Amino acid sequence: MTFDLIFPYFEDQSNLIIMKYKPADHIQDLQYFGEFGGVNPSISDSSTYTFLSAKTMFDTFEGNADGCYLYSRHSSPSNLYLGEALAAMEGTETANVAASGMGAITGALLQLCMAGDHVVSSRTIYGGTYAFLKNFAPRLNIETTFVDITKLDLVEAAINEDTKVLYCESVSNPLLEVADIEGLSKIAKKHNIPLVVDNTFSPLSITPSQLGADIVIHSLTKFINGSSDTVGGVTCGTQDFINALRSVNDGANMLLGPTMDSMRSASILKNMRTLHIRMKQHSKNAMYLAQKFEADGFRTVYPGLPSHPSHELFKKMMNPDYGFGGMLTLDVGNIDKANELMELMQEENLGYLAVSLGFYKTLFSAPGSSTSSEIPEEEQIEMGLSNGLIRFSIGLDNDIERTYQMMKNCMRKVGLLETQKV
Ligand SMILES: *Cc1c(COP(=O)(O)O)cnc(C)c1O
Repeated sequence: MTFDLIFPYFEDQSNLIIMKYKPADHIQDLQYFGEFGGVNPSISDSSTYTFLSAKTMFDTFEGNADGCYLYSRHSSPSNLYLGEALAAMEGTETANVAASGMGAITGALLQLCMAGDHVVSSRTIYGGTYAFLKNFAPRLNIETTFVDITKLDLVEAAINEDTKVLYCESVSNPLLEVADIEGLSKIAKKHNIPLVVDNTFSPLSITPSQLGADIVIHSLTKFINGSSDTVGGVTCGTQDFINALRSVNDGANMLLGPTMDSMRSASILKNMRTLHIRMKQHSKNAMYLAQKFEADGFRTVYPGLPSHPSHELFKKMMNPDYGFGGMLTLDVGNIDKANELMELMQEENLGYLAVSLGFYKTLFSAPGSSTSSEIPEEEQIEMGLSNGLIRFSIGLDNDIERTYQMMKNCMRKVGLLETQKV
């Protein structure tokens, strides 16, 4: 299988893009040593830190003693190392890691919004974020208008004088809608509000800060950690915003306390070192399967397919080395077929019937009845989330052709290919 088959896009774009392309991330420039010269930074195994002088302790509380550690809910060396690596990846001034993606998202939103404020958000977002904005934030008198993020005129029309945040996912969960980050950023700047982008589905492929996003969030639980052994999150932004999150007086992350443990951040940092290699393989495998499934007559959604409504937009925004990501969806008509197929694929060891994404093995689930079940059925229908939809996080399979043949056999067995063009 040649590279061109997998990324046909390079053929028609000439070499221009490749030649113009400079890596957007600066992970390669990082250099950390352990305190005894180890090749990995030492893990900070302390919740609290001593001060040589009482004056420095006071200054640290006041936020005036850079480089001094106070207490690990505020910051710790291991968390700072991971945060700086993620900031280098996203091209922001700095970053703050959190115990989960939701810890990062809720902290950022609550830092930006007070009672009486308003959020404009994409309607196709992670189920937990949707539930927070729809059901929890109104308890604090923070209201959200959910919009079709692909329609910039509707986005702008939803902004009012109380709007404090424009929120979206670069590639949305689970419908893989692509946000025009540059277009959204222009609207946000015009109205003087920050654009917050959850980039969990497209690390390295898309660098939202280069396209005008003010704050970039990830669930580290997914591709970035990549081994499905922990939850974690990060908020990437300006030094001022990250300081605000950590403020001992009114910082959402400091006061709500979604703190990552040092052992975990050290472990995520080590996994992050292979992220660029993994993303290329996830993208390569997903592109292969998406092309095959589409040719077989399935309704296949993958940003790398020319049939995807935002294919051109993704191409314009992407760092081409990393491809179109590891996520694709297939619509097999109804939930019973979806369940039958997923159970059979798991039996054949083609992947796991599990939520989440970014694992070395393929993961599949039916979002309508799982990760997006927070979204009421009528709204699911309105946004095009059919109940026969299967979301795939494509794994790192070395022989993806074999995987495809085996998946095809499963599809035949559950009677799917009869109705499709084979
Ligand atoms: C999983 C996920 C989250 C939530 O992250 P957790 O680590 O599970 O808290 C947020 N956004 C997206 C797009 C996700 O996929």
